[in-house]
Amino acid sequence: MLKNLSIRARLILAFTVLLGLLLAVAAVSLQRLEGLTAATQEIVNFQARRALLAQRINQHAQAEAIILLNLLQTKARDDRVKLYAALDEEIAASGKAVSDLDMTMLSADVQQEIDHVSDLRERYAVLLQETVELIELEGTSKARVYFEDRTHKVLNTLLFDTRALEAHLQQMMQSELEQLRQSAALAKQRVILLALVALLAGALMAWFIARGIVIPVRGAVSVAQRIARGDYATEVPTGQRGELGALLRALTSMRNSIATREEKILRLAYVDPLTDLPNRTRFIELLEARPSEETGALVLLDINRFAPINDALGHAVGDRLLCTLATRIQQLVKGSDVVARLWADQYAMLLRGTDQETTQATVLRVIEALREPIFIDGTKLDIDISAGAILYASGHVDSGCLLRFAGMALATAKRRHDPIVFASDNVTEPAPAQLFLIGEMREALARGDFVIYYQPKLNLAQHKITAAEALIRWRHPVKGLIPPMQFIPFAEQTGFIREITPWVLRQVIFDAAQWHRDGLAVVPSANLSTLDLLNHALVSDIQQLVKQSGLPASQLCLEITESALMDQPELALQHLQELSQFGFKLSIDDYGTGQSSLAYVQTLPVNELKIDRAFVSGVDTHPKNAAIVRSTILLCHELGLSVVAEGAETAQEQGWLADNHCDLLQGYVVARPMPLGEFIAFVKKFNA
Ligand code: C2E
Ligand code: MG
Ligand code: MG
Repeated sequence: MLKNLSIRARLILAFTVLLGLLLAVAAVSLQRLEGLTAATQEIVNFQARRALLAQRINQHAQAEAIILLNLLQTKARDDRVKLYAALDEEIAASGKAVSDLDMTMLSADVQQEIDHVSDLRERYAVLLQETVELIELEGTSKARVYFEDRTHKVLNTLLFDTRALEAHLQQMMQSELEQLRQSAALAKQRVILLALVALLAGALMAWFIARGIVIPVRGAVSVAQRIARGDYATEVPTGQRGELGALLRALTSMRNSIATREEKILRLAYVDPLTDLPNRTRFIELLEARPSEETGALVLLDINRFAPINDALGHAVGDRLLCTLATRIQQLVKGSDVVARLWADQYAMLLRGTDQETTQATVLRVIEALREPIFIDGTKLDIDISAGAILYASGHVDSGCLLRFAGMALATAKRRHDPIVFASDNVTEPAPAQLFLIGEMREALARGDFVIYYQPKLNLAQHKITAAEALIRWRHPVKGLIPPMQFIPFAEQTGFIREITPWVLRQVIFDAAQWHRDGLAVVPSANLSTLDLLNHALVSDIQQLVKQSGLPASQLCLEITESALMDQPELALQHLQELSQFGFKLSIDDYGTGQSSLAYVQTLPVNELKIDRAFVSGVDTHPKNAAIVRSTILLCHELGLSVVAEGAETAQEQGWLADNHCDLLQGYVVARPMPLGEFIAFVKKFNA
């Protein structure tokens, strides 16, 4: 019943009950006190007075007897007259005491005693009168005899009886007083009992009320604590009314809101909103949470040339394409595998318990399915996918490391236009030396351990050095000179190339500006990577540097590989155009190693083409190489491009190239890359 009341109502009820009990105790005490007072008054008013009156009767009778004895001895009449007056007074007083006593309400037995005393007193009064008369009429001797014979006896009885009456009345008073004491003690007991009952009732009530409040509040507290720990399945107790009911209802709605919000936040944090697949964060979490004894493969899938689709057909189409691909990938993997979208057009798969063979089969199946034409708004889209995979063995393998290696494999796949490339063998951790290098690169750049070597480019017609390629070296304090192929690919993978390239450009541009001022007519070229070509800031950075150095833009050449143009051709091309418009020379590096044709190169704003060493070496002896190089030179000249032959090592090769009108030659036959000072001296000597 109490449960249904609000806390306020419960407290009011409790205090009212307690107050009522307190009032009852007070009322009972008061009533008892009043009873005691009345009883005391009654004793004082009646009992004591009665005893007093009985005592007085006795005293008056004694006084009367004394006066009478005086009278019997007093000879002179005049003296006796005075005593008579005193005797009369005593008699009157004694009579009054008797009548007063008579008037008090008395019990029958006492009344009988009083009547008896009253009779005695009357008889004594008569005898007294007769004794007095005898004194006056017949003298004191006769009167004394009469007194002793009659009066004295009655007097004695009277004295005895009045004393008995007094004693009786005293006893009555004592017994009433005793009764009074007993009832006072009883009243005290009752008041104490009542107070105890009130106390107990109050305590019980307080306990019940506190319990009625504390138990649900404690329940609410434990629910709140469980909610704080993220347990939202906790049932909030119900059935309470009033303030507690409101509190519990508020708790329920709080729990529901937090759960909904957390779900939303988790979704935002872990789910890719476009495809509903786990995002990069979630994927890395799942990757890290894989059991240590598990083996399997991590596969990265990347759409080739997704940017043009996005640009040409709009992002809405691009988004729908990404969703369709996500669904297709998911349909082809096991339930225990994980498919995620890492970013843009890159997906990741965690294939559990597979080996290289099954991974390859699964990935090829996925790629085949993704290559199936997709129709969006009536447009048929054909897409191509590259995959990079890495197998992981049991034991701890760092997830970041797996992702990096899969990324490298993916980059290789894209470069080679292979559907899938596996990162070398069962990688557990990267070779410590490589990790060491990655970690040390930043430090090396700050310390100035990198250095630029220049390799001359010989103008075959003029037989002069008119250009040079800047090639980076790492002068490692312990390992000595490290060639670029040992750290540039890692710098590209880790993105650190974004810091290396500006440093190289600054060195090269300031060196070239100095050559220009010194009248050394050599145009240096610097190499740009894929990431550089996609970097918006790079174009303005280079422009800034040439302005600062005072170098004319035409005195700087930038080398790019065709594969650098493959990732986001539109953006790369836009940057190339900006660089070309500013007046820089542009050169296609390593021509022949990729897939691009001269027809494609021709569409680029480039001035120069560098034929890869693979075709140049043995060009004088290999007819096939000779045919390729010869036709390339011819075509380039038709297109207005100058040609550089890379990697000529022999005088025969040099002769062949000169005979076939190759413009420039870069190779060990002329010179190896060398430090700045050495290079300048070499050029001056050579050109002289
Ligand atoms: P690359 O741009 O194709 O540079 C030409 C490479 O061929 C150089 O190797 C050069 O020393 C080598 N070479 C030249 N003539 C001959 C020859 O007759 N025989 C042989 N066997 N090799 C010859 P290097 O210096 O080891 O550079 C390798 C690659 O590293 C470069 O290829 C370039 O892709 C990259 N690289 C070098 N410096 C930089 C840089 O500053 N930035 C970027 N992004 N890449 C760089
Ligand atoms: Mg180069
Ligand atoms: Mg090259």
